[in-house]
Parts: sequence; structure tokens; C-alpha cells
Amino acid sequence: TGKFFVGGNWKCNGTKDSISTLVSDLNSANIESDVDVVVSPPYLYIDQVKSSLTDRIEISAQNCWVGKGGAYTGEISAEQLKDIGCKWVILGHSERRHVIGENDEFIGKKAAYALNQDIKVIACIGELLEERESGKTFDVCFKQLKAFADSVPSWENIVIAYEPVWAIGTGKVATPEQAQEVHSAVRDWLKKNVSAEVASSIRIIYGGSVNGSNCDELAKQEDIDGFLVGGASLKGPEFAKIVNSVT
Ligand code: 13P
Repeated sequence: TGKFFVGGNWKCNGTKDSISTLVSDLNSANIESDVDVVVSPPYLYIDQVKSSLTDRIEISAQNCWVGKGGAYTGEISAEQLKDIGCKWVILGHSERRHVIGENDEFIGKKAAYALNQDIKVIACIGELLEERESGKTFDVCFKQLKAFADSVPSWENIVIAYEPVWAIGTGKVATPEQAQEVHSAVRDWLKKNVSAEVASSIRIIYGGSVNGSNCDELAKQEDIDGFLVGGASLKGPEFAKIVNSVT
């Protein structure tokens, strides 16, 4: 698999002041050279972050519109992200799926459109607690993966983020074994349904209550190629520690 990849999803948090502090902490952090690092501010602050953050860290949006811009009040298009120099977008985050109500097909179309505009995609999948408890974890993850597979022109510019919904923002991190089991199943699914080449080269990152104390154990797992970090990405030094996880 490729380089270790760590993304910081700031979600709907921050002010001009707090973001300015976070950016200066990130600028002074010591980042190991062999890690791809991306941060994802709210749209409003992307330009501020872009103009103040070191080029060592790339910028992602947290969402985008499903097609070309136009009369879509409140939306931001992939073309606009590209215009301001935003290289990545997170799509299919569980908060978009389960709080806002986006479905698999809509998310798949968003991914295809963004990739066609040269925006790279962090494609999120993951099961709810009741789905895990009823033994449906793989079914749910594979269905979400299939919706991406049915739409995207290529997997070259995609990172898959496995984020079990019960682990997000709950402090209840998946055990390294639980995460590894799903990551390995995702790789097998890709091998069977996409190609062996994509399965072996794609990065599958884990998200859900990752912090400075649990990152090293998770990073040691064979199929965990990085992290998507929420809460802990709002603290510069802790995020830097996660970025430098021992693999
Ligand atoms: P937490 O790290 O706050 O659990 O959030 C994970 C997440 O949703 C990242 O996208």
C-alpha cells in the first residue's frame, strides 16, 4: 500500500482565531517525511487555512455538490474547490449519511463528479452500532463500497476511510483487531470486485475516536494505512503525534 495518510476532519468547529492558532501549531509541528497529511476545515475557512498553512499539509473540503454549480442554494461545487486550490474532499462521512440523509447512490455520484474535476476523494464507509450487533458490518460496508465502485471512473485518487459510526465522537475506539478485520475484508472485496492492483495499492484509513494514545497500536495493523481524525485533530500537538504514529 501507499504512503501512510492522516487526515484531520475539523467538522463544524472553529473560529478565525482558533483556526489561526491551530494553523500555527501545525506549521511548527515536526512531521515525518513519509506521511501524507491533509486537514479539512469548514468551507468558510479553507481560504484562510490555505494562505497560512505550510504546503506540507494539503487541504480537503468536508463535502461538495454532486454536479456542476448553478442554482443550488447553499452548495459548493467541485469546480469552486479546485479554483481555490483545495485538493481533496471527504465524501460519505457518516454525519452526512445519517444526520443529513445522503444515500449511497448520491454519494457515489458526488465522488465521480469530484474525481472528474481532479479533486481527490476520501470515501467514507462504516456501520451503525445496531448493524454491527446484528452481524451486518460487512454487508453495510460492501454496499457502500459498491455504490462508489458503480460510479467512479478510477480508484487512483481515492483513499477509503473506514469509520464505524459507533466509534465516532464517542471515545469508544474500535480495537486494533476490529478495525483490522474490516480493513482486510474491504481489501478482499476490492480484489474480487475491482482489481488486485487497486486492492493492494489503495490506502484504507481508520476513523473513530483516534487519539494520541491509541494511534500507535492501530497503526501497527497490517491493513491500517492511516487515520481520519475528528476531535483530536483540533489540537495541533496531538494531531502531530497521530501523524507520526509508529507503523
Ligand atoms: P472523532 O475522531 O472525533 O471520533 O471523529 C472521527 C471522524 O468522524 C473523522 O471523520
